[in-house]
Amino acid sequence: MNKNYINGEWVGSSEVNRNLNPSDTGDIVGEYARGDEAQTREAINAADDALETWATWTSEARADALDRIGDRILADKQRLGELLAREEGKVLAESIGEVTRAGRVFKFYGGESLRFGGEFLPSVRPGVSVEVSREPVGVVGIITPWNFPIAIPAWKIAPALAYGNCVVFKPADLVPGCAWALASIIDEVGGLPKGVFNLIMGSGSKVGNALVTSPKVSAITFTGSSDTGMRIAAECAARGAKFQLEMGGKNPLVVLDDADLELAVSTAINGAFFSTGQRCTSSSRLIVEKGIHDRFVERMREATQALKVGHALALDTQIGPVASQIQLNQDIKYIEEAKEAGCRLEAGGELLSLETPGYYLTPALFSQTRNEMPINREEVFGPVATIIKAEDYEHALALANDTIYGLSSGICTKSLARAAHFKRHSSAGMVMVNLPTAGVDYHVPFGGRKGSSYGPKEQGSYAKEFFTDVKTSYTLA
Ligand code: NAD
Repeated sequence: MNKNYINGEWVGSSEVNRNLNPSDTGDIVGEYARGDEAQTREAINAADDALETWATWTSEARADALDRIGDRILADKQRLGELLAREEGKVLAESIGEVTRAGRVFKFYGGESLRFGGEFLPSVRPGVSVEVSREPVGVVGIITPWNFPIAIPAWKIAPALAYGNCVVFKPADLVPGCAWALASIIDEVGGLPKGVFNLIMGSGSKVGNALVTSPKVSAITFTGSSDTGMRIAAECAARGAKFQLEMGGKNPLVVLDDADLELAVSTAINGAFFSTGQRCTSSSRLIVEKGIHDRFVERMREATQALKVGHALALDTQIGPVASQIQLNQDIKYIEEAKEAGCRLEAGGELLSLETPGYYLTPALFSQTRNEMPINREEVFGPVATIIKAEDYEHALALANDTIYGLSSGICTKSLARAAHFKRHSSAGMVMVNLPTAGVDYHVPFGGRKGSSYGPKEQGSYAKEFFTDVKTSYTLA
């Protein structure tokens, strides 16, 4: 059994999680501990006890530790990428890309721990000076989803540690493998004091809830579905804990009449279907101006049909399996509902039986959909995209913003004026011009607006807004 990591020790559990490969459900990736409330409390106590020791480390020592962890992740990217592809179903090239990003994130925050500082200002009162400094928040609970099993943990753990916090990390039950591999790298090369970093694998209702409700956990950073996020928000607010939520999306990609058709099609295919559409930033709504609409639909149909669905480790696979049976059921439910609602299925939406038993679904493309339909209102979180016809740019912009979500949005156009207007008026937290809505850099802020996000942005140097508390000190000298 791959065990939990508490206070620098590997600790087993009575319950075991058998981790299945969605490309081949007969392949067991590994057996992982499934912790409970008592283990979570032990980890929280260890993290709380370690705060003082961790505070004695210089920023240079912290930087070196994060850099070593980043280097090891990068050196192991093939092995970790294969593990990620096996447990989550993301194709190998994308999996290695995700691992690379995780390594880079650790190295970036190594630098950040040296760079971040405060402010020194004169007071409005004579002889008085003011310092604005940043301090660690304390023990941070990290709760992550299954769809980016190493990158999301990295972009929460690395800044938490860089800014002096201690961590209890709870990954999604579906993907304990990458979390465990990351913890073992932190254990091997981090050289961190005992208790600074802890891993508790297990369910949301036991481990997640114990983290969210513990008075010793000062802050919760969560990425996952909107329903879970809102429950966590209520718990944290009730006890005055700091929280940060990254949740669902229903991201629009607008295609204007003046767009380069081939670029628009490749942008839409990538944004909608790569990573099997299981990205919070996926382009699930393709909003297309009427002049290019029919040509776009035709080229999208061809391009969607040409996508190769298969085992995530096969080198010619473009679209891996759906991550789980539960997710597959949800995708099929939305596909059936869209058909019944009169949407036209242009391509895909079929289950595939391949050599190995897995959750294979051909990417589904619908045309003749309206923005008010459930398939355009609710997050499907699978390889399912819709086309919505727009009368003109203003109509397209209004449709794009007509959603409870606000994570990412995109536009394909050759017009600088339209692009500038869209960047200014889109109600999403991230806006892409002639680029897929998914696919972002690690050194700049990441996050959404409206129902997609709550709290300070993640990533880049903006992460310090969540992972530190500001203190203002006055001195009369
Ligand atoms: P989920 O909400 O089911 O689970 C997320 C995490 O929360 C898991 O670790 C889960 O065990 C835990 N959890 C569940 N119930 C809990 C509880 N009561 N208390 C504490 N923790 C609990 O989400 P998922 O299915 O793993 O991930 C898919 C969702 O994540 C999608 O909605 C997707 O859009 C979203 N997502 C958002 C972003 C973003 O940055 N906005 C990024 C990736 C994924």
